[in-house]
Amino acid sequence: MLDSYPLLEKTLADFRKTLKEEAIHKFMTGERNYKVSGEFISGSKNVHDSYWINDGENEKYAIRGGVGQKDSMDVYGVHSGELCYECNNIDFSSRCFFSVNGENNMNSSYLVDCDHANNSFGCISVRKREYCILNKQYDKKTYEELKEKIISEMEKLPYKDPSTSSGQANSGKVYKYGEFFPAELSPFCYNETIAQEYVPIDQEKAKKMGYLWDNVEEKSYVPTKSWKDLPNTIGEVDDSILSEIILCQAWDLDKKSAQNHKCTKAFRITQNELLMYKKWNIPLPRKCPNTRYFEMSQQRNPARFWHRKCMKEGCENEFETSYSPDKPEIVYCETCYQQEVY
Ligand SMILES: [Zn+2]
Ligand SMILES: [Zn+2]
Repeated sequence: MLDSYPLLEKTLADFRKTLKEEAIHKFMTGERNYKVSGEFISGSKNVHDSYWINDGENEKYAIRGGVGQKDSMDVYGVHSGELCYECNNIDFSSRCFFSVNGENNMNSSYLVDCDHANNSFGCISVRKREYCILNKQYDKKTYEELKEKIISEMEKLPYKDPSTSSGQANSGKVYKYGEFFPAELSPFCYNETIAQEYVPIDQEKAKKMGYLWDNVEEKSYVPTKSWKDLPNTIGEVDDSILSEIILCQAWDLDKKSAQNHKCTKAFRITQNELLMYKKWNIPLPRKCPNTRYFEMSQQRNPARFWHRKCMKEGCENEFETSYSPDKPEIVYCETCYQQEVY
């Protein structure tokens, strides 16, 4: 039955209708929690507005982390530490602020790629050092004095988003001590990071928020076959498909939206891919790998939350949920879900 592309599409549509839209959904995915809100949270206590957290405690605005992480806020990929704030990919660290990539860092701010850095400020790639500022080591007293002086200067002369003075659309941000690195200093554009998977936006919104945007240059691929002309079953496909450049369905139907997720416009089928499709009797894909990956990532709810009421008639319970009000799913509170489903 599933060896024909139109049938596969129909089955997928039926699945979405019956299992996703008509089924009852719990307001969040999670278990073994105490006082939490967010999505994909387990084994956690007092974790709020967070996403994909295991074994976290006293956390807020945290994504993809936990494993014993405590007392932290505005963190992404931060595990097994405590008292972290505005950090990305930091493990086993304590009192680590505004830092990116590293582990076992203590009492430090504005670190990038540092490990075992203690009492350090504004350093890159420091290993097993302490009392460093801009990678230079000082004695404890000088370090403390200099650090206070820099923080005071950051208050008086903060870095400003340069676009704020040009009158163009801008984020209007002022970066005093206490702010993470400016987005415009990021080596990556918003739409080439997984932020675009978790919270997809378009170029206009990215510009307003002050994020860099990769204007995807249109590839020079010249498609030799349209997705519309692919055979319905893999049985009808021979090795000549390996030399075709196939126009992606997403690009063909909505180029602007396809560019937001870096659709490559066209794609090829590789030998091993073809062998797999033949082995499992799966029809050829109609979309490029980037589009397929992006669509797969959008199957899960975003890392955004809405305050909603339980949809069970007569129930007054309210909750934070990653199901937006315009989603078709029926969303119940924990109590109603347990009564109905178990
Ligand atoms: Zn595509
Ligand atoms: Zn309810």
